[in-house]
Amino acid sequence: MPVVEKFVPMCGSRRSELLAGRPADTPMPLRDSEAIILQHYALGEADWLVSFLTRTMGRVRGVAAGARRPKSRFGSTLERLSHVRIWFFERENRELVRVSQCEMIESFIDAFREYASSVALGIFSEVTEAVLPEHEASDANFRLLLLAAQTVKRTGKPELPLAYFALWTVKLGGWLPSLERCGRCGSVLVEEAPAYFSPSGSVLACGKCRTPGMRVISAPALSLARKMLAERLDRVVAGTAASSSARSARELTDAMLDVIEHQIDRKLKSRELLEQPA
Ligand SMILES: [Zn+2]
Repeated sequence: MPVVEKFVPMCGSRRSELLAGRPADTPMPLRDSEAIILQHYALGEADWLVSFLTRTMGRVRGVAAGARRPKSRFGSTLERLSHVRIWFFERENRELVRVSQCEMIESFIDAFREYASSVALGIFSEVTEAVLPEHEASDANFRLLLLAAQTVKRTGKPELPLAYFALWTVKLGGWLPSLERCGRCGSVLVEEAPAYFSPSGSVLACGKCRTPGMRVISAPALSLARKMLAERLDRVVAGTAASSSARSARELTDAMLDVIEHQIDRKLKSRELLEQPA
């Protein structure tokens, strides 16, 4: 039996989309959102499978048909971390949306050309993709990702924004223990002393409560973390001497990425590219 499609009067883009040969599955309303592109994967001969974080609908995956063709209408908008306005159709009973159009708000292509920056940006996209469930809006994670990427692009120095991003991702995930008191005996963690993370990162303990297998976190790295929880990233960057902070930032990044890997139960590929600070 042939499929009879009801004629529904409509105007503008939706009508032209349908006339342009939409598939037989029921078209849903065209949605649009501010978004950040997280990853894309080759699909078929000419398409991208795109994962993106929308501001209003959380993480979404969709197909951008023809996006890999040389003169695709998508241009470079689907590159990783592009901050865009994106239009897409949700499809009933289908996991993947159909990306219809994408306009660039801010590109990060130039920042990806520098090695250390590109590693940090790669970690931002992989971590965001890994920790956020689909279709759950998180404005805080959206703003964190954009702010961290913009700071890497603006400064060309990824150490502090990377540590800030990792720390806040753990905090927003609800996985950060108190940095003020020992999680075992409750005593105040003194400013000048190191503390000890449990392997899962769920407890931060004082020297007396330390047990084997705990990761030491130095006093300067802890102090940097406290500062990052209390102040905006631009202030942290402006008020921290780069020479002294790179090591603490890396130490904090490593501790937080350990927590993230524990939570997602796998290793981050992009993390393998991180080099030790000079
Ligand atoms: Zn203790």
